[in-house]
Amino acid sequence: TREIAVASLPEGALSQDHFTVREVDLVPPGPGEVMLRTVLISIDAAARAWMQGATYRAPVRAGDAMPCFALCEVVESNAPDLAKGDLVAGESVWADYANVPARQVQKLPDIRPLTHHLSVYGIAGKTAFHGLVGVGRPIAGETVLVSAAAGAVGAYVGQIARALGCRVVGIAGGAEKCAFVTGELGFDACVDYRDPKMFKALRAACPDGVDVYFDNVGGAVLEAALFAMNERGRVICCGAISQYDSAAASGPRNLPGLVVVKRLRMEGFIVTDFAHQDATAERALRTWVAKGQIKVIEDVIDGLENTPAALIGLLAGENRGKRMVRVGPD
Ligand code: NDP
Repeated sequence: TREIAVASLPEGALSQDHFTVREVDLVPPGPGEVMLRTVLISIDAAARAWMQGATYRAPVRAGDAMPCFALCEVVESNAPDLAKGDLVAGESVWADYANVPARQVQKLPDIRPLTHHLSVYGIAGKTAFHGLVGVGRPIAGETVLVSAAAGAVGAYVGQIARALGCRVVGIAGGAEKCAFVTGELGFDACVDYRDPKMFKALRAACPDGVDVYFDNVGGAVLEAALFAMNERGRVICCGAISQYDSAAASGPRNLPGLVVVKRLRMEGFIVTDFAHQDATAERALRTWVAKGQIKVIEDVIDGLENTPAALIGLLAGENRGKRMVRVGPD
């Protein structure tokens, strides 16, 4: 079977040279393991952060098969609660087939299209829901600002906030993406963070200030957002994509001053912290999708061999909505 491994760890920007494709022999799964056939690989910005060292999971090392979240079919099982033909999602690696401990994966209902299990009802939708509702707690009428607004998590954050009756402003890279965010996703406004006048544009887009900022990027964008926050605003720290793919980390320069003066609450979270609320999130998301209040935007790339390029491209802002790689048929 084919497997894509980390050839060397990146110090600056991630490139194809950091990966290598290798053939490995398929062996029967060990005790408690299942053999999986990969159907869809989730492409997550966090994968680049795992290559920087320890995060909320063990660091990725050179020589490792590249870890990922994936949707797979069980082809052989040595675990009592999983059988051949079951659909599962969980931690696997960039490969056509892989043996993993059964406890690493969860059985999924066979609801189609399968891509929705990785997008709106998967990590992206759940991260958006739990972060916004569980941590940010927006109230109807408030202004919600979200960065990486055209991306997987950001697109759901904004659409959920609109469904909750908030005014929603996005931040994204480039005029075309901003037009997508307001046109296709229905945000009230969107600011281009590459515009040298971003600061002013943000003020103009948020005439009543910002009550809740959902931060996917950190760095200079977070710095600008902190200036736009209202008193007692909430900053949801979801990720820091501006700092994953470069050696130079630049943090906001107005911390903790503005947090003190404006009585801000800044709180980080990891989607699994809210696993006990997953059923609530999924119910709410299904209702909004059924009512047409949430559009499911997906960006599916074909072929395992294209997985490195898919991740590199995500970090460069190529994607709209949830990016994933289709490795095999449903
Ligand atoms: P996205 O689909 O949002 O794709 C990433 C987007 O980030 C790109 O499309 C790009 O859009 C934007 N981006 C890239 N570089 C920069 C930069 N330097 N400054 C500003 N924006 C940039 O990816 P994900 O949905 O996988 O991840 C979004 C965020 O959510 C990440 O920070 C990730 O770590 C976090 N996350 C956190 C979880 C948690 O449990 N806390 C769980 C899942 C994700 P553009 O063209 O606009 O630049």
